[in-house]
Amino acid sequence: MAATTVYKEPAPIMDRENPLESMMSRFNIAAEILGLDDSTYNVLKAPDKQVIVNIPVTMDNGKVRVFEGYRVVHNTILGPSKGGIRYDMNVHIDEVKALAAWMTWKCAVVDIPYGGAKGGIICDPTAMSPGEIERLTRGYTLAMKDVFGPDRDIPAPDMGTGPREMAWLMDEFSKTVGATSPAVVTGKPLVMGGSLGRTEATGRGVMVSALAAMGKLGMKPEESSAVVQGFGNVGSWAAKLLAEKGVKIKGVSDISGAYWNDNGINIDEAIAYKNVHNGRLEGYTGATLMNADELLLADVDVLVPAAVEDVITEHNAHDIKAKLIVEGANGPTSASADPIINEKGIMVVPDILANSGGVTVSYFEWVQNRLGYKWSEDMVIERAERIMTDAFEKVYATSQKYNVPMRIAAYVVAIDKVAQTYKFRGGF
Ligand code: GLU
Repeated sequence: MAATTVYKEPAPIMDRENPLESMMSRFNIAAEILGLDDSTYNVLKAPDKQVIVNIPVTMDNGKVRVFEGYRVVHNTILGPSKGGIRYDMNVHIDEVKALAAWMTWKCAVVDIPYGGAKGGIICDPTAMSPGEIERLTRGYTLAMKDVFGPDRDIPAPDMGTGPREMAWLMDEFSKTVGATSPAVVTGKPLVMGGSLGRTEATGRGVMVSALAAMGKLGMKPEESSAVVQGFGNVGSWAAKLLAEKGVKIKGVSDISGAYWNDNGINIDEAIAYKNVHNGRLEGYTGATLMNADELLLADVDVLVPAAVEDVITEHNAHDIKAKLIVEGANGPTSASADPIINEKGIMVVPDILANSGGVTVSYFEWVQNRLGYKWSEDMVIERAERIMTDAFEKVYATSQKYNVPMRIAAYVVAIDKVAQTYKFRGGF
């Protein structure tokens, strides 16, 4: 009999800032501004559903490893829940809960008919073979077959997952229900119902919201500089599209280090380099290596954190020199940094607004799957930009109305929409 190893080593959450606490502290401020009633507050402060599964996977060496996986559905009052699946060693239930709630707020901010959810598996996909990742993905899908569904809960890619995993998920789910079911998941490969423009959608939304914010601050893209922390899907696309608008990208970073070029990094060249070097910039010679912590504090106009949570904290916020922060990642700024950033007068386009381009085009993918019809790339880009620009203006107007930072304004817009829907639907 194959030996069984339990493979779950969650990073102790107390070693890092707790994203759930950061999410709650902003939620509390916005709830108070809105005068949210107790019942709605109590419903929204905790997720609707939390599912924890053990997924046995036969590894290539014949041994069985058991992985721990999660799906948290935060809320479904606005529609079926929507949110990515993360494969990472640092996945933790509190993180998944925060990310699920952020999906509820994100979908509400851009006014698309979804609730919020998030999934995760504690694993290191970089240390697994494609076959192992496929068996893990299929096992997770099977374990979640009663949670997922085109009208119930619709997953998508997140850190450590992409179109390949979404294809396996769609296939496994379809076999389970006995009918091809493309609308159960978004972020699929183009040939099997993926949407044109989905891959770059989050990065494009970051660019659109950065430009909208620069407009409010009187900054000209061609005269501005930026650094982008994280050079995965979101960061590399955001850097490329901002560079196309004339912004000088002086620094970028990934897991291999931070790279600086005072004359601006050639982003197309850097992307081409990483594509043939295991997805990493290691050894890239178009820039010089610099300290990764220093990158966030660089003397540039725009800072785009596009990697993981809690990179901007009370410990480094004082030293940030950028005038504008555009959050490509989910939760890159911990709540402890908020007052410092506000005092310094830095404008923040918060995650639930800045990175909502991804879920917006996911929504378009789902709509196309349900219609059985494919939109042109121009149509996707034009509609997504309109949604993002409208959402930006709404959040900006709310920040002026209540005299609060953009982050709190985004929560106010989102919570207000959800709360109003509860009033109309009633039921508790
Ligand atoms: N994982 C992405 C996010 O955090 C996309 C979610 C989706 O498309 O459902 O927004």
